[in-house]
Amino acid sequence: MDYFNYKQGKLFAERVPVETIAEQLGTPVYIYSKATFLEHLRKIQHAYKAIDTMVCYSIKACSNINILKFMAKAGSGFDIVSGGELYRAIQAGADPAKIVYAGVGKTDKEIIEALDAGIAYFNVESEAELENIIRTSKQKGKTPKVALRVNPDVDPKTHTYTTTGVKETKFGIDIERAEKVFDQFGENPAVKLCAIDMHLGSAGHTVGPYVEAINKILALVDKLRKKDFTIETLDIGGGYGADYTTAQSPSADDYAKAIVPMLKGKKLKLILEPGASIAANASILLTRVLYCKTGGRKNFVIVDAGMNDLIRPPLYNAFHFIWPTTVEKRFSYLKRTEKLDIKGLEFVDVVGPICEGADFFAKDRAIPPIKRGDLLSIFTAGAYGFAMASNYNARGRAPEVLVDGDKFEIIRKRESYENLIDLEK
Ligand SMILES: *Cc1c(COP(=O)(O)O)cnc(C)c1O
Repeated sequence: MDYFNYKQGKLFAERVPVETIAEQLGTPVYIYSKATFLEHLRKIQHAYKAIDTMVCYSIKACSNINILKFMAKAGSGFDIVSGGELYRAIQAGADPAKIVYAGVGKTDKEIIEALDAGIAYFNVESEAELENIIRTSKQKGKTPKVALRVNPDVDPKTHTYTTTGVKETKFGIDIERAEKVFDQFGENPAVKLCAIDMHLGSAGHTVGPYVEAINKILALVDKLRKKDFTIETLDIGGGYGADYTTAQSPSADDYAKAIVPMLKGKKLKLILEPGASIAANASILLTRVLYCKTGGRKNFVIVDAGMNDLIRPPLYNAFHFIWPTTVEKRFSYLKRTEKLDIKGLEFVDVVGPICEGADFFAKDRAIPPIKRGDLLSIFTAGAYGFAMASNYNARGRAPEVLVDGDKFEIIRKRESYENLIDLEK
């Protein structure tokens, strides 16, 4: 589900023709659909309403403050992984009591900022970090709540870079060691160690790994409660399948149908940290074709967006559907998959202007015939798209535009040449 659709051969973001935006603001440009964000959030909130649940949108997926503002207004909490994200959340008007803080390398400064803000939970990833939080909390005279991030050793079967819940990743504490951590720190008066956290990784496409991991964690919770430790919350992280290609992943409802019954009657508050499943298909990256050329047996389409705008294809070998913004009727049928069986498509590599072989968006991809000057939409660019953008090759970052119904507004300006050297004087 999203609000990017073709009408009479023209691509619309909600009720705005995307070409209007490109004409006014140039390309490349990120276009977000507010309704898509909010509908995903509402669906998750609704799917879990049978149990006490806090949805904490994972800021790192897509962090523009204007997006965080309307998410906070719609009742979202936030999952943060840095002091900068805490700052963004607070500036956006987030309720600190709905903020959870993960990350293996929290600095003293960041810990103090989070203590001062009064966040809901520190999701702690090592004994050494917990000792540091205890020391800092004593100094500040605060007693924060702490969730222990355990590593359930379950593989979501995704890319190695987005697998975080198996042994031999840097994240969390092995589940076998968790009990010892409670023995050592569970009674420490400087913190309230009262929750368990996990995050399997990103872009899993099945519910099974969550069920397996929650089962392991519930067994741990039982053991800990038998030893009289208070466990009030279970945070099951993010990583829910996002709709990169239409309906490939289970919906929020499908996940909830498996997860809610496991937690009913367990006296555990549930925390979810969805990122990509909310943000991914809430945005497209619009780019203009600069040149078409052939090299060997290959046809290259060189566009004005580069890996500095969207790094997911080279970084994760990620699939992004790419299609012209104006198409003949026979091409306006859209199933956003790799293998399209429509007559008249041509196979091309869609690449950027950056001086790196890794600067590509798609290889051997079937798309309708295109020429210099055409506009292409790179779909499902909302998660880890702009958020991972850089100034590599001294390219100003693309503007971000938010569409709401038939209106649109710039929520981040295009970076100018002056911006590139602003901090260097
Ligand atoms: C990145 C991250 C998430 C969000 O992951 P998605 O795949 O975007 O849903 C949630 N929790 C933690 C701890 C993360 O690091």
